Parts: sequence; C-alpha cells; structure tokens
Amino acid sequence: MADYDAIVCGGGSNGLAAAIRLAEAGWSVCLLEANDDLGGAARTLESTLPGFKHDFGAAFFPLVAPSPSIVGRDLAPYGLRFVHAQVPSAHPFPGNQAIALGRSAVETAASIDKVHLGDGAAWFALDEAYGEIMKPFLRAQMQRWPFEELAKVAGRLRLAGGLQFARMVVSGVSAVADRFESEQAKAFITGPAMHADLQPEEPGTGVYALLLSMLGQRFGMPVVEGGTGMITAALEAKARGDGVEILTGRRVDRIVVERGRAVAVEAGGEAFSARRAVLGALEVHDLVRLAGPESFPPRALAEIRHYRRGLGTFKVDWALDGQVPWAAEECRRAGVVHVGDSLTDMSRSAWEAAHGLLPAKPTLILGQQSLADPSRAPAGKHTLWGYAHVPAVPTGDAGRPGDEVSWDRSSEAFLERMEAGIEAHAPGFRDRVLARRAWSPVDLEAADASLAGGDISAGSFAVDQQLLFRPGPSWWRWGTPVKGLYLAGASVPPGAGVHGACGDLAARQALADHDRPRLLAMTAAGAAAVAAAALAGRRAARR
Ligand SMILES: Cc1cc2nc3c(=O)[nH]c(=O)nc-3n(C[C@H](O)[C@H](O)[C@H](O)COP(=O)(O)OP(=O)(O)OC[C@H]3O[C@@H](n4cnc5c(N)ncnc54)[C@H](O)[C@@H]3O)c2cc1C
Repeated sequence: MADYDAIVCGGGSNGLAAAIRLAEAGWSVCLLEANDDLGGAARTLESTLPGFKHDFGAAFFPLVAPSPSIVGRDLAPYGLRFVHAQVPSAHPFPGNQAIALGRSAVETAASIDKVHLGDGAAWFALDEAYGEIMKPFLRAQMQRWPFEELAKVAGRLRLAGGLQFARMVVSGVSAVADRFESEQAKAFITGPAMHADLQPEEPGTGVYALLLSMLGQRFGMPVVEGGTGMITAALEAKARGDGVEILTGRRVDRIVVERGRAVAVEAGGEAFSARRAVLGALEVHDLVRLAGPESFPPRALAEIRHYRRGLGTFKVDWALDGQVPWAAEECRRAGVVHVGDSLTDMSRSAWEAAHGLLPAKPTLILGQQSLADPSRAPAGKHTLWGYAHVPAVPTGDAGRPGDEVSWDRSSEAFLERMEAGIEAHAPGFRDRVLARRAWSPVDLEAADASLAGGDISAGSFAVDQQLLFRPGPSWWRWGTPVKGLYLAGASVPPGAGVHGACGDLAARQALADHDRPRLLAMTAAGAAAVAAAALAGRRAARR
C-alpha cells in the first residue's frame, strides 16, 4: 500500500492549496483527483469551437486580491496574470440606459447620477461607511486567528458604525437598496448579490452585495489571462515543485476509518495509507458518504442532513462572431454584466427558482472575458459566459405553467429564454452566436461531482450557514468528528470562490493538530526544567 503523511481527495483549487501548504511543511502528500484533469470548477475548456476558451466555472476574481493563500504566494513565476476590462461591471436597463461600477466612488456615483441625479450621493455614503472595511472583513474570514483583521474592521467602524455594520450583515440587499430613489440604482446594487443563491430580501445579501461592489470598485473584476485554468496550472506547478504526488483519473471510493481515525483512502482498487491526515476537498455530503455515516456521531450527521445545498445553476458558453452589441455603451466595456430589469424582477426569479420553478425571466450573470483577454478567442471573435440560478430538479415552469419539465426536456427552451434576456438589451445578439454549449445542473455535476445539483457554492450562502455554522458546529474549524479527517472544500469557511482559503486553512489546522502534542510536551518539558532549576537554586541558597 502506498504510504504518505497526508492524502488530499479532490484536485480543485482548495485541494491544491491544501496539498501545497502541507508539502511546504515537509509532509509527504498524495492528491487524488477523479477527473482526468485538475481544477474542478477552476478549468478552462474549448467547449464550443476550436480556439474559443471558456471558463467552465469560476471566471472573475475580486476575492483573489485579498486572499492570503493564492495571491499571498507569488504565482506569477508560474504564468499567472490577472487582466481587467475597462469597466469592472455594468447593469443595463430598458431605454438603452446602464449603470457602471467604476474604479472609484466618483466614477460609480457619476454613472448612477447620469441615470437618476441624486442617487450618486447615496453611493458615496455607502462607500464612505463600508468601502474600506471590506478587504479586512474578507481577509478575517481567510485566517485561522483573524484578530488583526477584526481589529482593523473595528478600528475603522468604531461603536456607532459597528452597530450599523452588524445591522447591515443581517439585512437583505433590498433594505440597502432603499437608500436609493430610482429603480435603476436599486437594481444596480442588487445585481452583485444575485451571484449568490438567495432572494434579495434574505439576510446576508446586503453585505454580500457591498462586498462584491466595494472590492470590485477597488480591485476590479479581474480575469485570468489564458483562462481560469491558468490558476490551476500555476497551483499544479507549485504543488509538483514542492513534491506533491498528483494522480488524476482516481475517483476516491472510500475513506477508511479505523477506531475513530481516518487512516487510508481507496481509489480505483488501490489503497493509499495516510499516516497523519486525510483531507477531503470535496462536497460535504460526499465526504460523509465516503467515510461512511457510521463513522460520525448522530448529532454531527444530523447537522449535515440539515445543511442545505444552494440552488442549481444553468451555465452557458457562447462563441461569438463579434462582441455583444449592447445598446448601452457602458456594457460594451464591462467585464461583468448583470441582467435583471428591476429589483422586483430579480426577486421574482430567485423566488421561482427556490420554489422549484424555471424562472420566467431569469436574472443573468454574464462575463465578457475576451474584452480583457483577447487570447480567449480567435482574432475579431469573442466569448460570452453566463449563468442563471435555477432549481436543481425543476417541478414546473413559471413561464409556461402546466408544461412538463425536466432538464432533458427543458434545457433548450431555457437557453432560449436566457438569450432573449440578452437580446432585449443587445439587439442583434443572436446573429453573432457562432456556437453555444449549455450546462444544466445535471451536466455540471457530471463534469465535477462537487457541483451536486448544480450548486456552485458547496452549500447555500444563507447567513445561517456561515462561519461556525458552515457546515455545522460539530465540524468546528475545518476538522470533523473523525480524528485525522479534515474538510477542505468550499462547505467550510470562508466558502465558495477560487481563493484556496478553505484548503489552506484545513491544512493549517491539520498541521496544528499534529504539532499540538509535541508543543504540549515541549512546554511541559520546559516548565519542568524551569521548576527543577528553581528548586536547585533554592537548595544551593539554603546550603
Ligand atoms: C458556473 C460557476 C461560476 C462560478 N463563478 C465564480 C467566480 O466568478 N469567481 C469565483 O471565485 N468562484 C466562482 N465559482 C465558485 C468556485 O469555482 C468554487 O467555489 C471553487 O472552485 C471551489 O473549489 P473546490 O476545490 O472546493 O471544489 P471544485 O473546484 O469543485 O473541485 C472539486 C474537485 O474534486 C474532484 N472530486 C469530486 N469527487 C471526487 C472523488 N470522489 N474523488 C476524487 N476527486 C473528486 C472533482 O472532480 C473536482 O476536481 C463558480 C463556480 C461555478 C460552477
């Protein structure tokens, strides 16, 4: 049986980040990946036509600048480079209008004022109150002991601001939107919150919208030159350089637990022994299945049973003959475009998806990577990336009540509905489409088992599933109730995103747990030596 200090299951960004951290500490590490290629949701595929590079999953990285685990290591020598469109994001409205998120509060406020004079001041007020705390607030969630970052947040907010911020954290974005008068500005602030699987009235969506907006304004919405797969390639090169053994095409079938401790992993008929730790950079329900439910106490199992998956996702890659012909020029320069005519429309589509219905007018999150990175498509051509939240298993269609629905039957019609949403703001869009590839929730899961039911966030973003409730109190700090078994995927804090922090923190926890007995023994030996010296000193003084 092959023998390592640690086995990492899953070769997405979190698995790779975990393996690197352990290898840097001198552990021997083997990483097992089910697919033939690494990266999971951080891959770039030629899924439509040759020469068109489409991000399969993650595409935009406003969260990467503050991440200590990916950008904290300089991956530029491994070919990683982030590039920006002229404008981070934009939101089109009927009447050829749009609001753009700029690279400063002045730019954003001016764009808002152009649509409705006066609403720019409300943006300035939000930016002044919360703009500067978002980076330390996010970084705090990426540390094992976030005292320094929390002190920065507290220092900037002071008492009155702290109470307001606490209120913001439990607010829906619809409450934040009330600070604006115009329907357009309300929709603009709501758009970023719709990346999550929640309705805009739900707690937590307010702070999520601010986080993405304020980070986007400060750090942009960068994409990776050559595609998100370059992050994976850089992490792979770093991991291999650190001595990690990487085996692809090895689906983990079982995590072996003996006397309450994870000791080995079985994959494709082969066994891999883990002297110190097994890290599952996998979806949490899958980790429980692989280790066997009988390995966990009933309370821990109940927490996972009640840990809710996020909504499903319907993702589309488009190969285009030219750029999207947006009527509003702001959208023609933007990396990300949010399509949803009003807060009410976006709320309705999220409500419909949450209630099992295919949304009649889906909210669209679109990415125009080729504007920032011409290497994504042949000369003069472009790519478009987009998704909408949908039910994992639809039970009806809000647009065509009474119709029978299933992803087999409904994918094509839903794709057309998404294209109609774009065409409404970009007449002539359909004529530019050379090829398209749609990924229903079923297709996404088939391509990456961790995207169960098309859930791209490894568990709902709901506020009751964050921090120590992610995935449950018995799974405290990246550990599990099984000794030597760690959760390193996005079902643990800080959650979804290609930052690698979940894997990095799980690895740090495994290292700390392994070192604890040695540290305790060293502390005890040190204390004994000090006591013996003091005793000897006292005896000598008496003599
Ligand atoms: C459509 C979409 C859009 C997104 N947009 C963004 C974005 O713009 N920005 C952003 O930061 N994030 C985005 N995300 C989220 C982000 O991609 C994920 O949160 C992140 O990739 C999770 O990384 P991970 O390593 O935990 O899991 P994954 O990337 O899902 O990797 C899990 C890996 O484990 C492997 N695996 C599963 N089961 C087994 C098994 N039994 N044995 C061995 N291997 C196994 C899988 O094949 C996969 O390679 C998006 C995701 C999707 C799908």
